[in-house]
Amino acid sequence: MTQHIKIECPSCSPEEKVSHELIKLGISPLVHCLECGLVYVPFGLKTPEKISVRVFVNRIEKPFTRWVKLTAGELLCEDEEIVLDNVKVSDGEPFIITSLQVGVRRVPSAHAEELDTIWARPLNEITFAKRRKIRQKHPISPGSIRSVAEISALAEYSKAVQES
Ligand SMILES: [Zn+2]
Repeated sequence: MTQHIKIECPSCSPEEKVSHELIKLGISPLVHCLECGLVYVPFGLKTPEKISVRVFVNRIEKPFTRWVKLTAGELLCEDEEIVLDNVKVSDGEPFIITSLQVGVRRVPSAHAEELDTIWARPLNEITFAKRRKIRQKHPISPGSIRSVAEISALAEYSKAVQES
């Protein structure tokens, strides 16, 4: 789908807005002037962009991946609920963001356009994991490896926060 916007063209119409085709949206958008054919990066143009971000739902039973459409500039935070489309009713628990991945880093919050992967879990499994953690006498037992990895990721994050 092509989107058209009306902005000033630096080449043929610096004073008056003319029709442009939006070639690329986002932080550095690219536009095509329909009057003179110039293709350039307009400064200060803010366009809401829909971005597809991968959500990895780290369930105990059958983890799965979904893509969600987010709006550029939307801020996502850990522990927030995320709404997944096209999830069967039986899988339709509220999903909670457990981690946000930007490149190879895990961050507590990020804008939609920076995100590589959103890690999420069903809410009921989060409470279950927390309860289990309290009861556990041996931190490394079969089946707890994943949550141990998460704990160390959290420890890394809190260390990073203390250092900054
Ligand atoms: Zn032009």
